[in-house]
Amino acid sequence: MDSIHIRAYAKINLGLDVLSRRADGYHEVRMIMQTVRLFDKLTVRRIRTNSISIKTNLNYLPTDENNLIYRAANLFFQSAGLKPQVHITLQKHIPVAAGMAGGSSDAAAVLTALNELFCTGMDLAALQEIGLHIGADVPYCLLQGTALSEGIGEILTPLPPAPQCYCLIVKPPASVPTKYVYENLCLDEITHPDIDAQLGAIRTGSLKELCGALGNVLESVTLKKHPEISAIKAQMLSLGALGALMSGSGPTVFGLFEDRTAAEQAYYRFKIGEYGRQTYLTRFQQR
Ligand code: ATP
Repeated sequence: MDSIHIRAYAKINLGLDVLSRRADGYHEVRMIMQTVRLFDKLTVRRIRTNSISIKTNLNYLPTDENNLIYRAANLFFQSAGLKPQVHITLQKHIPVAAGMAGGSSDAAAVLTALNELFCTGMDLAALQEIGLHIGADVPYCLLQGTALSEGIGEILTPLPPAPQCYCLIVKPPASVPTKYVYENLCLDEITHPDIDAQLGAIRTGSLKELCGALGNVLESVTLKKHPEISAIKAQMLSLGALGALMSGSGPTVFGLFEDRTAAEQAYYRFKIGEYGRQTYLTRFQQR
């Protein structure tokens, strides 16, 4: 086998709480993660020369060590004690710098593909250990599905699949640096979301209860800079979403619908509006 085609799925956060700031600058989090059926496509090909080369359809993305997939490949070859011999093509569909872990998911997909391509037989835990050096969301992106993420993102508890629904995703044009949002988060002033209520709703399979408990503390920073996020949430709710929330550090907003017709009507409404270029209607993806 010379090459592998693989999908890298985006995630949303059904719940995102920050518990504390650690001395090393990292944050202790408690998050409910959910994979959605919106994905980048990667082809990972073995080559005969010693290099890691990357080609992507988005000309503004780095193709050197600043791309997370370069770092993933580099760390993989170092850990496996192999010569770096790979060419990766990345077809990007997940919105960039959007709070959907696009780069982390690409990195996770590359680790998975290289493990298979080079028959290195690393288990999930070994790949996650490498992944954590690339980014806090990479271990989750290797696991996928519905999961509780704690610590800095490395303590993962797989959960039963969240109740299925229609997930409307709208990404306004602003790009929000994750670092800025965490640095400006006032831990004393935030209202913590009820992550335990979300866990209960997932275990009982209640979409209504899950939507009632959606919450993301990072909204307290990003919404001040980007009021359009609040407007998108309000519009989704007025169009029949049971709940709407910003994902990650933003600015992507998602709305969850039980009813397919309402979801499709809301999708078309946003599709013809100012955010139409990055409006998607999708479903939850399970492990
Ligand atoms: P998170 O939800 O984990 O905070 P994000 O969705 O906000 O992530 P990404 O799309 O992963 O953000 O990318 C953020 C930055 O990382 C971009 O500005 C981009 O230049 C850089 N980057 C590096 N590698 C990639 C990649 N493979 N795909 C997208 N962006 C990448």
